Amino acid sequence: MNILCEMYDVIVVGAGPAGSTVSRKCVEKDLETLVLEKQSFPREKLCGGAVSERTLKLLDFDIPEEVIDQKCNGARVHFQGETVEVEKDYRLGLLVSRKKFDSFLLEKAKNRGAEVKHGERVLEITEKSSHVSVETDKEVYRSKIVVGADGVDSTVASEVLGEEISEEDFKLALENRVEEVKFQDKNCDRIIDVFFGNIDGGYGWVFPHRDFFSVGIGSYEEKMKKPLKRQKRFLRDLNLDVPDNFRGHRLPVGGQGRKKVSGRIMLVGDAAGLVDPLTGEGIYYAIKSGKMCGETIEKAFSDEEPDLNKLKNYGERCLNEIERKLEWSLKICRLFYSYPWFFMNVYVMNREVLSRSVDVVSRDESKLRFGLWMFLKTPLFVLKYFFGD
Ligand SMILES: Cc1cc2nc3c(=O)[nH]c(=O)nc-3n(C[C@H](O)[C@H](O)[C@H](O)COP(=O)(O)OP(=O)(O)OC[C@H]3O[C@@H](n4cnc5c(N)ncnc54)[C@H](O)[C@@H]3O)c2cc1C
Repeated sequence: MNILCEMYDVIVVGAGPAGSTVSRKCVEKDLETLVLEKQSFPREKLCGGAVSERTLKLLDFDIPEEVIDQKCNGARVHFQGETVEVEKDYRLGLLVSRKKFDSFLLEKAKNRGAEVKHGERVLEITEKSSHVSVETDKEVYRSKIVVGADGVDSTVASEVLGEEISEEDFKLALENRVEEVKFQDKNCDRIIDVFFGNIDGGYGWVFPHRDFFSVGIGSYEEKMKKPLKRQKRFLRDLNLDVPDNFRGHRLPVGGQGRKKVSGRIMLVGDAAGLVDPLTGEGIYYAIKSGKMCGETIEKAFSDEEPDLNKLKNYGERCLNEIERKLEWSLKICRLFYSYPWFFMNVYVMNREVLSRSVDVVSRDESKLRFGLWMFLKTPLFVLKYFFGD
């Protein structure tokens, strides 16, 4: 094994949205940054590819047309044969191919000076008093700080957290790509479809892309007994042929309250467990945590050596700006799926609620204002449900 002498300021493990965001931020501040990625880019990534408007607002550049599959301006919710639809006169987000989207974000970091090594898997990291040693299947590197952006099965996180991750902290999602979907000739191009009631503790989706539809289901692992069978049933319920291109992966939804920084090592995105338990949205949190991590590293490096105490600020920012919101999401998720019939009928199948919910999820409209509005309107919704308009 070749042990390299060069000392990097920052090594980022993983080149997904979280990793490319941290590395872009670090090179912008002239820090020697190396990205280690086990796959060769452009690479496929299992994902619905929905990128909300609030995610796009985090980026200080536009997404080029060739990366965009669809611009989304509406949502439809289906429950027990009923459908409610909202269409907005503004964009709610994009549907992208992760192969192109992730490559585009990584190019941004590379163009600004990040060194990227593809096809190199990190096997082990060891923290020493003056640096961190990073062993891959090819070399051993040294760095003053290491950021784990290596996704849901993070090697870096297991070094930081040991046994702290519980099996309850994961959701499971399955997806198929199908060529054509039709709902009674409704427009499917700029609208995302969400299905409740088919899957315990989760939902099904149909997201339109340029050449295919992403059709999938997601829920807590313990609720997804026989996941393949469930996905097949979901496809059949939609009158779709059952193809054989099934793909499934875990989503980490339990990062709230978990350690994000340990000495010279930091965790971002899925590696830090930052996915919304209610919606399954992870790209927003990957980019947001990546940005916050990069900003913290930059401040810690006022000199040649980082001030390790300042790295702890990232943990505090994560708690205040991300985890508290995810905790609320988790509470809502548990309540929602404890009484699904009530919530689906009274709330979800109400156009006004759907319209406001879509803005909360996509545009970061105030959850507090939304919650207050719901609280005040609840008696009216319940009365309407039982006695009609
Ligand atoms: C079926 C499914 C559908 C989803 N749909 C959506 C959606 O529509 N919208 C949304 O916002 N979120 C969605 N998500 C969640 C979203 O995909 C993730 O939250 C997001 O990709 C997290 O980004 P990341 O950069 O943290 O990790 P990743 O995108 O997973 O990137 C991690 C990178 O690290 C690399 N890596 C891993 N281990 C190592 C190692 N040891 N050494 C070197 N490199 C390594 C991997 O190859 C990978 O490139 C979905 C997830 C699933 C499973």
